[in-house]
Amino acid sequence: MKVLVLNAGSSSIKYQIFNMEDSLVLTSGLLEQIGEVSSRLKYKWLDADGEQQEAVQEGHVADHNEGLKLILDLTLKLGVIKDLSELSGIGHRVVHGGEAFWKPTLINDKVVDAIREMIALAPLHNPANLMGIEVSRALCPGVPQVAVFDTAFHQTMPPVAYHYAIPYSYYKDLKVRRYGFHGTSHRYVAKQCAQHLRKPLSECNLITIHIGNGGSMTAIKGGRSVDTSMGMTPLEGLVMGTRSGDIDPAIAFYLARAMNKPFDEIENILNKHSGLKGICGVNDMREIERLAAGGNLNAKLAIDMFCYRIKKYIGAYYAVLGAVDAVIFTGGIGENGVDERAQICAGLEGLGISMDNEKNAARSREMREISTEGSRVKIMVIPTNEELEIAQQTVESIRSA
Ligand code: ADP
Repeated sequence: MKVLVLNAGSSSIKYQIFNMEDSLVLTSGLLEQIGEVSSRLKYKWLDADGEQQEAVQEGHVADHNEGLKLILDLTLKLGVIKDLSELSGIGHRVVHGGEAFWKPTLINDKVVDAIREMIALAPLHNPANLMGIEVSRALCPGVPQVAVFDTAFHQTMPPVAYHYAIPYSYYKDLKVRRYGFHGTSHRYVAKQCAQHLRKPLSECNLITIHIGNGGSMTAIKGGRSVDTSMGMTPLEGLVMGTRSGDIDPAIAFYLARAMNKPFDEIENILNKHSGLKGICGVNDMREIERLAAGGNLNAKLAIDMFCYRIKKYIGAYYAVLGAVDAVIFTGGIGENGVDERAQICAGLEGLGISMDNEKNAARSREMREISTEGSRVKIMVIPTNEELEIAQQTVESIRSA
């Protein structure tokens, strides 16, 4: 059984084809700069001997339709599939599912319309996701397609966690509430952790920390998301690469007045020029570590603020959950940032969260425990795999439909 996973951005298409029996990635690639003079497709595939090959192709790709056609033709040419009918399903990553979608959903015209209606909530992402769905339905009409939403896992949050304390009518009329994102990743690592703990997910209380360029944390009670740090948009919560995370909302009004700038510009500053980058000029954590090691005080401050915010959320989510089985690190920084993990967990022994420094420092690409033997709460590093989770959810959805 082969499943194609598509993640369409405004000028890019990221894809993978899985063989579902063994979760093997048969081919994967990233097409960038769609619509520009020269687009670039970087792709990998397994050849007939099972060896991984990779190549780059450049040339003009006018739009997403041409882009997906190029990818499908290439996949056929490489022999990954012999015919499009070999695809059992196509899973699409969709950022915002609003309140309408609490689980992966088989796509039909009505679903497409509902995703279109959500554009106001996610103007930066949903239009591109929708474009991906439309071209793929046109090019692969016989293949069942499933939308997998970043927000869906968090639809189990209770009202006390998802409401903002602003006039209630804004929730009713304008859908202003917390939705949360990165749900596919939080769900994937939670499932992996449950397997590792040999417990049903429905009996696990977890704090999942997904920290890459974007970042979010989730409190998971009995396997369900009960709170998460991102809000109505991905701007809320942790200090991120370029996003501020939690700030006093009045700062936006103050800045708009003080600098005489329109709100669009303030929104751009908070999303693209804040967070780690805002504090020290750089958003890549490895680069920030190098700067901090060289004595750059703002780089050190940026790392300290990043870790401190996460530590605060661990405390908050511990209180929400009451008892915690494991704290899970994932995402580029969560999986690789030895010093950040140590700094975040330092001083949490009183909460039963005790890190084994040697285990934390050991490099690995595998799921692993990095807490001490006696730690009441396990600390785990679990590499995320959002594409595989989308592929699995696609299969589940098609089967249950
Ligand atoms: P995205 O959110 O774009 O998917 P990733 O999950 O790939 O991002 O994470 C990117 C972040 O991970 C960058 O800030 C990068 O510096 C950081 N990172 C990668 N490797 C390391 C490392 N060894 N130590 C610290 N940070 C790392």
